Amino acid sequence: MAHSKALLVLENFIGGKFVPCSSYIDSYNPSTGDVYCRVPDSGKEEVEAAVKSAKAAFPIWSSKSPLERSQILNKLADLIERDLEAFAQAESKDQGKTITFARTVDIPRAVYNFRFFASSILHHTTECTEMATMGCVHYTSRAPVGVAGLISPWNLPLYLLTWKIAPAIACGNTVVAKPSEMTSVTAWMMCKLLEKAGVPHGVVNIVFGTGTKAGEALVCHPDVPLISFTGSTLTAQRITEKSAPHCKRLSLELGGKNPAIIFDDADLMQCIPTTLRSSFANQGEICLCTSRIFVQRGIYSEFLKRFVAEAKKWKVGNPSDPTVDMGALISKEHLEKVRSYVKKAQAEGARVLCGEGVDSLALPTGNQKGYFMLPTVIAKVKDESCCMQEEIFGPVTCVVAFDTEEEVIERANSVKYGLAATVWSSNVGRVHRVAQRLQAGLVWTNCWLVRDLNLPFGGMKASGIGREGAKDSYEFFTEVKTITIKH
Ligand code: NAD
Repeated sequence: MAHSKALLVLENFIGGKFVPCSSYIDSYNPSTGDVYCRVPDSGKEEVEAAVKSAKAAFPIWSSKSPLERSQILNKLADLIERDLEAFAQAESKDQGKTITFARTVDIPRAVYNFRFFASSILHHTTECTEMATMGCVHYTSRAPVGVAGLISPWNLPLYLLTWKIAPAIACGNTVVAKPSEMTSVTAWMMCKLLEKAGVPHGVVNIVFGTGTKAGEALVCHPDVPLISFTGSTLTAQRITEKSAPHCKRLSLELGGKNPAIIFDDADLMQCIPTTLRSSFANQGEICLCTSRIFVQRGIYSEFLKRFVAEAKKWKVGNPSDPTVDMGALISKEHLEKVRSYVKKAQAEGARVLCGEGVDSLALPTGNQKGYFMLPTVIAKVKDESCCMQEEIFGPVTCVVAFDTEEEVIERANSVKYGLAATVWSSNVGRVHRVAQRLQAGLVWTNCWLVRDLNLPFGGMKASGIGREGAKDSYEFFTEVKTITIKH
């Protein structure tokens, strides 16, 4: 393909050096529809070189003390923070998200991921028991596993990649990471800071490319004993199959179909703006986004009226405009997929109250070919509809009425996913009862996306296997041994 403007060309980062690749993939700016970057189309050969370099770096890195590793992670956090604006600009351009979201969520969280695990690695203790009658003490010791394979998605590129790299290397593993082929730029920028932070060559290797080529080569590599994956449930099934012959340790963070349950005693002043954010933040492209809103019948009409009125106020447009609330979706294909759900809902007799197909979207001249759509609210939709069952992963949310607590719990649980839920009520007893019975790895009551990284993150059912967080990541990224001493 002929390109008029000079393109940004990324290179793999292997053994502390940038290495060109023999073939490349085009990467698009979602807000203009233009190709602006070329990403290595790596395969077995590149993955082989990266694993070799990670293996070679393992003995020295794993023998460093937690404090030495912690200091390096903190330095890396400082360097990313120093360059926060450049990272935020790059993330917004590459992913389509608003510059505001990249500045206030993505990049600060990437910085915090390194700081958090730099600190948490210093505070773990192991177990010890005594068997006095046998003259024995037992204790556990933990050691890093080896080369960790890390695979991340396109919705929160640096945020989710560092959520894996930070704990993996804090625990003493070396890594080969593969970011999404659609959003590789900030990972490549981070590689430029590794040496200055003091990360030894070979500890962090990044191989760019597609899932089927580079991703599978990593998953199938016999010298990569663990894979931490965030992405879709379908890809996780494939990864599970491909890694099975090697009995790999897997952590799978997958999709969701997250309910919001709003009781008639909810504080709507808090609930409405938060539920707008939980439905449409980052264009609805967050695994934790709300896509099924259950509202108790007594307040259903009022909620719907106010919610739709507020959704219509969201400004969609050029992501680099700081007054914009929603940027572009990741790709043309994804936009078409999200739109197709709205069409299916209409064909089934549901009512689209605002957004796609109802309101018109005025875009600046430079963004006419971008992948934009308006926040879309659907009502009168049946629980069996694909819009209420499948993950749409875009700015589309369904609002339905319910009568009783018992009924809403059953309906909220009636999907294959179980990642997150929100519950809105001022009745503390009810909040506890409902939270206990929801099939979700995370339940937020009267709030959304408030995270303490100390605690487990992950989903039930088709939303994942395993948890990540301070203790959970430590357990995943280390191998435990029980030692018995008899005197
Ligand atoms: P995806 O599954 O298509 O891709 C994710 C990553 O896996 C990419 O890097 C991709 O290249 C790679 N990949 C694809 N096929 C592969 C294969 N056969 N072998 C190895 N790697 C492969 O997902 P996506 O479209 O990038 O991301 C969106 C999905 O991610 C949504 O389902 C969303 O809910 C989920 N997600 C989950 C969480 C969570 O923490 N639970 C967070 C963010 C996103």
